[in-house]
Amino acid sequence: MLHVAEEMILSPHADGDEGAEGALRPKRLAEFIGQQRIKDQLNLLVSASKKRGHITDHILLAGPPGLGKTTLAHIVAQEIGAGLRLTSGPTLQRAGDVAAILSSITEGEILFIDEIHRMSRPAEEMLYLAMEDFRVDIIVGKGPGATAIPLALPRFTLIGATTRAGLLPSPLRDRFGFTAQLDFYEESELKEVLSRSAQLLGIDMQSAALSEIASRSRGTPRIANRLLRRVRDYGDVHGSGGALSCDDVRSALELYEIDERGLDRLDRSLLRAIIERFNGGPVGLTTMAMSVGEESETIESVCEPFLLRSGFLARSPRGRMATASAWKHLGLVPPPTLEIPLTFGD
Ligand code: ADP
Repeated sequence: MLHVAEEMILSPHADGDEGAEGALRPKRLAEFIGQQRIKDQLNLLVSASKKRGHITDHILLAGPPGLGKTTLAHIVAQEIGAGLRLTSGPTLQRAGDVAAILSSITEGEILFIDEIHRMSRPAEEMLYLAMEDFRVDIIVGKGPGATAIPLALPRFTLIGATTRAGLLPSPLRDRFGFTAQLDFYEESELKEVLSRSAQLLGIDMQSAALSEIASRSRGTPRIANRLLRRVRDYGDVHGSGGALSCDDVRSALELYEIDERGLDRLDRSLLRAIIERFNGGPVGLTTMAMSVGEESETIESVCEPFLLRSGFLARSPRGRMATASAWKHLGLVPPPTLEIPLTFGD
């Protein structure tokens, strides 16, 4: 198992440090970096509903963790001038949990459900009705004598966030008027995120140092901001007092064993295991996870999306394979016969 600090630093999941994240969240659409098409679409959606005086359609935000889904929900609420209620799928397990939160909502408010794919089926069914007809049926009594008492709800906008849009049942997916699929960020966009964060945190960084962090941030703003905080720690302890340089970034991130492409020790062990123990693959997820002593879930949600995206790993119906870039990155010579299979999506 990995050391905790190391496990956290490149994880795209929130690490409970909401205070630090909250301070860096852009507040308006114009401040939100990248994802231009989604910003334009949301802008239109919000402006049109404001102009007509209607509530905004329900919105589904899909994409890997740390790309800005929660931030966008806050921004939409701010742009509309509506209140925002935050909850998450795992806390909505009984139909009554959904009824309780919906019955306390006020007209025009926004309900944000993070990890919406993790709601239970009965809770989802209660939500369908509320999304479509703005009512819930409260069941009174049990068995044949049970009666459904309809309860009208104020009109609200639901914003759902999911890392696994494929897991949402289609009746739920179909009830969203707008779905946005967030994508990983380009290095130039991450540099902008970092530049903004450094300014907000009062960290003096050379431009090349920002680029150096951006290239190691796995396309994810949450990771970029976290690495920036670690580099700041390094600067506070070892810095000369001037603007932090590329060398400072390299030394700081070397301590955490994060290499120039953003791979950490676990990523490299995984690639090495596929290459050395399984001759480059294909190998199944569980076997791959066991070979590095990690949970399959960690491999699937943290390592794999990044390794696939950066071309170190390929996925075929028979399992995962290390690509020629992976061999080269580890200083090994790929076999001349290495064939890269088609990669399949989620
Ligand atoms: P998600 O809900 O998708 O897991 P968050 O919205 O919580 O991600 O974003 C994680 C952190 O990354 C936030 O603190 C925010 O400051 C930062 N962030 C995400 N997207 C952007 C962006 N486009 N511009 C600036 N900062 C961003």
